[in-house]
Amino acid sequence: MSDASSTEKVNLPNGKTLTVYTGLFINNKFVESVDGRRFETIDPATEKPIVNVAEGTAADIDVAVDAASEAFEKVWQHVDGKARGRLLYKLTDLLMRDREELGYLEALDTGKPIKSATGDVEDAVDVLRYYAGWADKIHGKVIETSHDKFCYTRHEPFGVVGQIIPWNYPISMLSWKLGPALACGNTIVLKPAEQTPLSALKTASLIREAGFPPGVVNIVPGYGHTAGAAIANHMKIAKVAFTGSTTVGRSILKAAAESNLKKVTLELGGKSPNIIFEDADLGQAIKWAHNGVFSNAGQNCCAGSRVYVQDTVYNEFIEKYKEFALSKKIGSQFEPGVNQGPQISKVQFDRIMEYIQAGKSEGAKLILGGDRHGTEGYFIQQTMFTDVNENMKIMQEEIFGPVVAIAKFKTVEEVIEKAHLTKYGLAAAVFTKDITRAIKISNALKAGTVWVNCYNQVNCNTPFGGFKESGHGRELGKYALANYTEVKTVQINLGK
Ligand code: NAD
Repeated sequence: MSDASSTEKVNLPNGKTLTVYTGLFINNKFVESVDGRRFETIDPATEKPIVNVAEGTAADIDVAVDAASEAFEKVWQHVDGKARGRLLYKLTDLLMRDREELGYLEALDTGKPIKSATGDVEDAVDVLRYYAGWADKIHGKVIETSHDKFCYTRHEPFGVVGQIIPWNYPISMLSWKLGPALACGNTIVLKPAEQTPLSALKTASLIREAGFPPGVVNIVPGYGHTAGAAIANHMKIAKVAFTGSTTVGRSILKAAAESNLKKVTLELGGKSPNIIFEDADLGQAIKWAHNGVFSNAGQNCCAGSRVYVQDTVYNEFIEKYKEFALSKKIGSQFEPGVNQGPQISKVQFDRIMEYIQAGKSEGAKLILGGDRHGTEGYFIQQTMFTDVNENMKIMQEEIFGPVVAIAKFKTVEEVIEKAHLTKYGLAAAVFTKDITRAIKISNALKAGTVWVNCYNQVNCNTPFGGFKESGHGRELGKYALANYTEVKTVQINLGK
């Protein structure tokens, strides 16, 4: 497959034309899959196919792992940190050069508004730049043991790492995975989500242009139960990093245990509580609580989908929250001024509509939305339930859509207890002007991130991950580097 035959031109509704890569990216080449299979990627705003992309299966993962393994042994392990950092910086320059095109591609494939999609590209650049800076700062320690011994540690790359990413933030998730793995000197086989392979393939072309040696990064689109499972089970992959559902996370841990005991990091789901006290600035709390659950059409692992409001301001909060929601515009990714796009797929659309139905039949009170938006595309109205309790499905399970459940509380003790009544522990938020209360509650909540008087603040240099069934390990910041190295202890005898 030549590069020319691995690209297609796609016309956007706004008159722009995009070049879309459609091959598997292995050894710095775009190739067909071993068995020639292809699958469609869909524009969720129109329900129409965008292009057909080569579909990787277990056989392609084998080819990619061999390429990554050879690249590690022959080339990449001999490339020093400074040079790895330079390559990563070069990649970020190219991503910035093409950020408008990448933003359009991401918007087309995910349905998210063009402004958010371009923002995601810029966030990905920040993350990769951050890890470019780390590449020459990965080192061990000298450890004092006794006067006639010399002991030091080395932080060595694993070799080939496998990475499986979801469809809600495709290019951001790509950067969270590639950045630390490359900075630490690993080679990579990455599988983007089958719904959203396009920004990863465009980035692959920039990885090659930046000058990364062949085989260092391999990107294999395909389905989870075939290509994804092949990564999780592969005997030559030493570590796997996954972001997605808790169900699949569990299957990856099992596959790791039953294959070569590869190391696993997991970033999974959530059902995050957002707690609003009567002394909070209500206008601010409403703005953040709205962003907390409705941004990215609710397709956000840390969505604040359980909002707890103190009883004394409950009615006022609900009225104003509803009003704020109604000021937001739902529409296609390329329409000006749109705040919320479609859900990613028919499967997700149906799943969310089932949750809305469950909320109604379990007796929650629907105060806004509850239906599809428009007649074409996977759009769902902003949906609000009140009169909920912790036993309801919509208070226990991750909906991953524009649906919020709002509950009332009286005391700090009561709300902390309720906040903990799910299996998840990804994030939480508290709104109050009382700093002592804010700190005490932040310390008490079982969550990987707690936001005070804000929501969804994630930075390249701050760790992110979950307590309980929300995950294993931390991504971002210095913490993520520990996921991508083995520590070796060297003991030298200086005496007899
Ligand atoms: P998923 O977990 O099935 O998919 C995420 C990624 O895992 C994709 O790349 C997929 O191909 C891959 N995958 C699927 N099955 C696999 C397997 N057996 N082995 C290896 N890889 C596999 O998620 P989904 O079905 O697309 O969405 C279902 C639910 O998952 C959503 O409703 C949401 O609750 C949750 N989700 C969470 C996140 C997150 O950011 N934590 C992202 C996407 C979905």
